[in-house]
Amino acid sequence: MIRRLLRVNLSGDRITEEDIPKKLAADYVGGRGFCAKYLYDEVPAGIDPLGRENKLLFVVGPLAGTNAQAFSKWIAAAKSPLTGTFSRSVGGGDFGAWLKWAGFELLILEGRAAKPAYLYIKDGKYEIRDAAPIWGKTTSQTQGYLKKEHGPRARMVCVGPAAEKLVRYAPIISGERAAGRAGMGTVMASKNLKAIVIEAEPKVILAHPEEFKKLVQQQVKLIKSAPDFDDSRQHGTIACMDRFYAAHGSIPMLNFRSGELEGWEKVSMQEYAKVTQKHVGCYACLIKCGKIRKISSGPYAGLTTEGPQFESAWAFSGSIGSTDLDATLVANYLCNELGLDTISTGVTIGFAYELFEKGILTTKDTDGLALKFGDPEPMLKLIEKIARREGIGNILAEGTKRAAGRIGKGTEQYAIQVKGLELPAYEPRARKALGMNFATANMGANHQYGWCGQETSEEAQPRAVSPVADEGSGDIVKYSQDQVAASELSVVCSFARPSLEFLGKMLVAALGNPRFGSEDYLLHIGEKAYNLERCFNVREGFDRKDDTLPRRFLTEPLQGGIRGGERIRTPDIILDEYYAARGWDRNGIPTEETLARLGLEEVAKDIAHFRRRS
Ligand code: SF4
Repeated sequence: MIRRLLRVNLSGDRITEEDIPKKLAADYVGGRGFCAKYLYDEVPAGIDPLGRENKLLFVVGPLAGTNAQAFSKWIAAAKSPLTGTFSRSVGGGDFGAWLKWAGFELLILEGRAAKPAYLYIKDGKYEIRDAAPIWGKTTSQTQGYLKKEHGPRARMVCVGPAAEKLVRYAPIISGERAAGRAGMGTVMASKNLKAIVIEAEPKVILAHPEEFKKLVQQQVKLIKSAPDFDDSRQHGTIACMDRFYAAHGSIPMLNFRSGELEGWEKVSMQEYAKVTQKHVGCYACLIKCGKIRKISSGPYAGLTTEGPQFESAWAFSGSIGSTDLDATLVANYLCNELGLDTISTGVTIGFAYELFEKGILTTKDTDGLALKFGDPEPMLKLIEKIARREGIGNILAEGTKRAAGRIGKGTEQYAIQVKGLELPAYEPRARKALGMNFATANMGANHQYGWCGQETSEEAQPRAVSPVADEGSGDIVKYSQDQVAASELSVVCSFARPSLEFLGKMLVAALGNPRFGSEDYLLHIGEKAYNLERCFNVREGFDRKDDTLPRRFLTEPLQGGIRGGERIRTPDIILDEYYAARGWDRNGIPTEETLARLGLEEVAKDIAHFRRRS
């Protein structure tokens, strides 16, 4: 089966269709495997992430556009302007299906357009069009304009004004869904690209259609019989606001100081259910975890918006010690409109609140805003300032790591980030294996890179581990990261991941390659992609010194909550365990033997001098 990519050089308006080489497709399967391979091969070390040499990839899995459930998500990948690492961010909605129907699993964007532009794809024709009427517009204004221009069959992704101002953590938005993390929207805007619009009719070619149909029927039954199916449908990811607070004590409060917050019940899933109007979802997904919510009274009455997902809801409540549900909805809405990553925005604002509490920032620095924990009003103003890089917003637009560097005065200890990426809604002292995933993940602190469900479920494979074990989970972190990478070879949604065995059957029915039917093979390619991403980072100078957590988690016991008193006591021991499980040396560089086992002999040669130095 021929699998194709579209290469768009924005500098010279050159657009070419290419076959993805058969051997490469077999050796990397798809999705995250293609991201790792093409970025490693085509993005040279040391380039400016916001320069012409960076490339932005859009990737869908081999099952996108079919009726397989939750398989039409898409990945945006590039060297991140926030972290300087390999990064990938996963987006939802319909766009993935449309890209696949247009004939492509991979879209590679290169260079920079001479003036604001958008890419239009229809019926094998490609145009770089003038984006002057939408440059500077919010994401809903942009999408509204493009829908009028191209009609109801068009689907699109775009960036907001924050990306145009090169805020380092701007996402790519489709509908009201975001590929949020690590500034993929910033890379897109740095190429002067405001949007991509696709018009396409359903078209999928399957190697074994009858077998595929049966497997989709089985998949639907499996999803419906999952224990959390009803909660996911009813509440979406907001169910985590209750579950993770009560059962795990792992929701961080007050810029990651505490594991509890008075009045948290005001932002429980039952409270969110009261304002929920409708359930919505991505293409071909019966879970429909998206929720349309409406504020019916108070200063924001009438606002109707999709979201927030759990991490966004936490970022605008727990992070700044607020339990104001309406303000959380407004903050989430503003971020979607202006194009800001909700997690990095909320954590960066939490950082500013703590500096204000400590007197390091005063109203003279904050344009008159009194940043008091518990008060969400200044947060709403800061969101707008960040998006427009106004006043204090210009510093916060850089993310916590760079902002701490600019402010000085020892403020890096309050910057809750790894490799520059702000931590999401999980307290590392209450879930230590997940914390080690944050420390080591290739793109910085991302829960989706290695969820470590072995801490929260007795049934998880290969074995359960205690969430507060100081040692003994290094191999679990590796296993979890490789499992995720293997699943993302097909870009299936993390809320509906089938077993690798079942995924293998679906891939064989779709693509006809019997090699993909082996669970071991998929896990092997997941590990291979993970190591290739790591080698991308090694070339950029990343090693053991970067695989660490903010000092707070190592020195300050967690205050309150059921895990109160916990801290990360032995980070070096778990890191050594992790490197040993991965087959990396003590400095975190993949060994020659490991890379040879994964079929990456040429890459081993590329990074040999980094190994000799370590
Ligand atoms: S579970 Fe939610 S995010 Fe995942 S595919 Fe379905 S609707 Fe999209």
